[in-house]
Amino acid sequence: MSDTAAAVDSKTGSAVVTDGGGEPAETLRNYVGGEWVAVEGGDAIEDRNPANGAVLARVPLSGSADVESAVRAAREAQPAWRDVPPPRRARALFELRALLDAHRDELAALVTRDMGKTTADAFGEVGRGIESIEAASAIPHLLKGENLEGIAAGLDIEMVRQPVGVVAAITPFNFPAMIPLWFLPFAVACGNTFVLKPSEQDPLVSVRIFDLIDREKIFPPGVVNLVHGAHDAVNALLASDGVDAISFVGSARTARYISSTAAANGKRAQALGGAKNAMVVMPDADPALMSNGILSSAFGAAGQRCLAGSLLVLVGDEVQQGRSLRRITEAAGKLKVGDGADPAVDVCPLVSVAARERIEAEIEAALEEGATLALDGRIDGGAGGAELGPTILDDARPDSPAVTEELFGPVLTVLRAESLERAIELVNSSRYGNATAIFTSSGGAARTYRYGVEAGMVGVNVGVPAPVAWFPFSGWKDSIDGDLHANGTDAIDFYTRKKVVTSRWE
Ligand code: NAD
Repeated sequence: MSDTAAAVDSKTGSAVVTDGGGEPAETLRNYVGGEWVAVEGGDAIEDRNPANGAVLARVPLSGSADVESAVRAAREAQPAWRDVPPPRRARALFELRALLDAHRDELAALVTRDMGKTTADAFGEVGRGIESIEAASAIPHLLKGENLEGIAAGLDIEMVRQPVGVVAAITPFNFPAMIPLWFLPFAVACGNTFVLKPSEQDPLVSVRIFDLIDREKIFPPGVVNLVHGAHDAVNALLASDGVDAISFVGSARTARYISSTAAANGKRAQALGGAKNAMVVMPDADPALMSNGILSSAFGAAGQRCLAGSLLVLVGDEVQQGRSLRRITEAAGKLKVGDGADPAVDVCPLVSVAARERIEAEIEAALEEGATLALDGRIDGGAGGAELGPTILDDARPDSPAVTEELFGPVLTVLRAESLERAIELVNSSRYGNATAIFTSSGGAARTYRYGVEAGMVGVNVGVPAPVAWFPFSGWKDSIDGDLHANGTDAIDFYTRKKVVTSRWE
């Protein structure tokens, strides 16, 4: 492809992505100890624009020596960074916030080019990432401990929070701006130093954020570090004695691997995994609210969200169920599929041709097992070969992957329930428990649902209960391995160790 868009900044050697010009794709560099450094070990893979297949950059696959040098830089920087008073660490975050705010449009455009999602969606993701910086900026308050004067005669007791040390974050492809920013601000605010391993499928926005941090010298060298790579880099982080804690977001399978290996290696871990989110439609749902919520949840970002609604549970009698389904199917059929950079497009391409092929194979398998198509979105891939339109599957077998597993594409599977109680049973039978939503005009039904449903995030007349940085974010069951969620005060608990001091001074 000729419209390759990775121009290389002469100082950093890292990609600063522009609007084309045909430069050959360059190999990205790691950011270690405040310098952009070439990766020594391993091969490189191509990072492509999903909308047209253009190669944007070559992503080097770091080996253990590359990872270890980043961990060493973080380790060396940590004692001095811990000594920086929390209000001054907060001020660094104010600067980071202002810097990213000034580059919102550019960062959003980069997310679209590298991951594929629509510009509006990308803008939202960058905004939510910036909100995590805002939330972490309250660190002088958030780090406060507890005390009790006179726990016994002449004896005082206090609990203080201290940083864990060096923390790593391993992040997925689907939110390349927001998810690294779930972790970096809170980790460094707590006095830790940080190593990011972004998704090898779309690392360019992380590169640009680190580039901005580097140019403005937001942090002392070594406080934040970036390593590119895939499994070997992750395994090196898991094996490194220099890493104290790991934040992970990705598929359920990888989450289980990360959490079990981290535990075996004596590391603290939070591993947020995959999802199969159900959206329940009651017969009294407001039609417009319901259809807008369901469409954006099922087909926004082409279903590539951990919050994507991929199961539609229609409650009521046959006539009521049929009415809701017709409305959703008709509206979904009108969604425009194409390049996320086109403002008229609703459904972006999948992240890669391989992802489209995998999801189409899942659709075929469901059809072979007796499922029917209420809406067929198979459109031969479009310009870059990665497009798949909104697809609605009906009559799928209850044990088929279309019902039980995350397909991570624009595929909505229909289930039916005669009552709300049966709907809750169906939803709770999933091994996942990330997010869910109910559409209803009844406060009583909404309350019964939110009380009984097993999920970490619940939307009431809201399709996608998006992460809000001041609240903990994660699912339940197989959607997380670990106890502490991302963001909110859970982030402070994860990134600090508690110490209880008992004193007598008489
Ligand atoms: P993924 O699990 O394939 O990859 C995530 C990260 O793990 C990447 O950095 C990758 O390099 C690394 N990795 C993958 N397989 C590995 C292995 N075998 N050994 C070591 N490292 C490995 O996930 P993805 O496809 O990039 O992202 C999509 C998934 O993430 C979906 O399942 C989605 O639901 C989930 N997700 C969850 C949340 C949440 O909050 N729970 C948020 C976003 C995405």
